[in-house]
Amino acid sequence: MIIQLEPNITDSQKDQLKEELRKIQYKVNPVKTQFANYLVGVGKREFDIRSIGTLPGIRDIHRVSDAYKLVSKKWRVDNTVIDLGDGIRIGDGEPAMMVGPCSIESEEQVALTIEHMKKNNIRIMRGGVYKPRSSPYSFRGLGPDGLKMWYEQAKEAGIKIITEVMMVDQIEGMYDYVDIFQVGARNSQNFNLLDALGEVDKPVLLKRGISGTIDELLASAEYIFSNGNERIMLCERGIRSYEKAYRNTFDINALVMLKEKTHLPVIADPSHGIGLRRFVDKIALASAVAGADGIIMEVHHEPEKAFSDGQQTLSFDQAERLYKQLKRLEWLRE
Ligand code: PEP
Ligand code: MN
Repeated sequence: MIIQLEPNITDSQKDQLKEELRKIQYKVNPVKTQFANYLVGVGKREFDIRSIGTLPGIRDIHRVSDAYKLVSKKWRVDNTVIDLGDGIRIGDGEPAMMVGPCSIESEEQVALTIEHMKKNNIRIMRGGVYKPRSSPYSFRGLGPDGLKMWYEQAKEAGIKIITEVMMVDQIEGMYDYVDIFQVGARNSQNFNLLDALGEVDKPVLLKRGISGTIDELLASAEYIFSNGNERIMLCERGIRSYEKAYRNTFDINALVMLKEKTHLPVIADPSHGIGLRRFVDKIALASAVAGADGIIMEVHHEPEKAFSDGQQTLSFDQAERLYKQLKRLEWLRE
């Protein structure tokens, strides 16, 4: 059960509510986010929802019996819109394109990527400065200095930054330079990290775990929301399957299922989704048709020379061809 409280609920009204919930033996978790105060009740007893819903001080009440509640569409039918400022909104019908390299590598690379983005009217840049790599000997990112260098150029160009945070300890140092914190597939169930991002007042893009189910992804999002941060996007980036012909199995089904189950924006990552450059455009187009609220993908001025994930990274020309196709589909605006 979820109860949204009126902002001006009095202490005696709260006591009356608690008493009613005690009677039906519901365990109650208070949740305070940047937007509202809720009580999330967990219990098994049948009860008459009107007996609680009509109490003073309550704005809204719903029965939600799934493990995830606040992120469920059963609770909130209106889609969540994430406002990044400067006229950039995600989830309100205007699809979000987020492009950039797998890893931030150099000043020159950042400058060239920003030039490509400005030419194509794209305002959110992706890139990793802390890279989760399967091998410890692979390039692991430029770290905080790389982030600051990137930030200086992005700020100048009016471009927003999305980048991966891997540890709770990194959040504070990254905070001033980041517009969206990305939680990578390997950390999709790092509950300490999710708790900590719940306390941050910046949006989070949460990726599906490498072998994560849809319910697990939603439950992970619930960690962030129930710790106070409502500004979450979910990202399908392909899952591990028995198929070895491509890097991951992009689960297009997940896009439509997530759109049905949650009010949060759903973003597709076709680059990691298939892991093969020659097919990234097709998977991106399929994602747009399937109703993705945005696409995050890897581009590079010289993909063959990229420090990481070059094999799935589009050149600027290839990316431009894709933008044109996305416009023809009337997914991206002219
Ligand atoms: C990335 O975005 O470069 C990345 C490492 O993604 P994922 O966590 O989906 O593997
Ligand atoms: Mn990558």
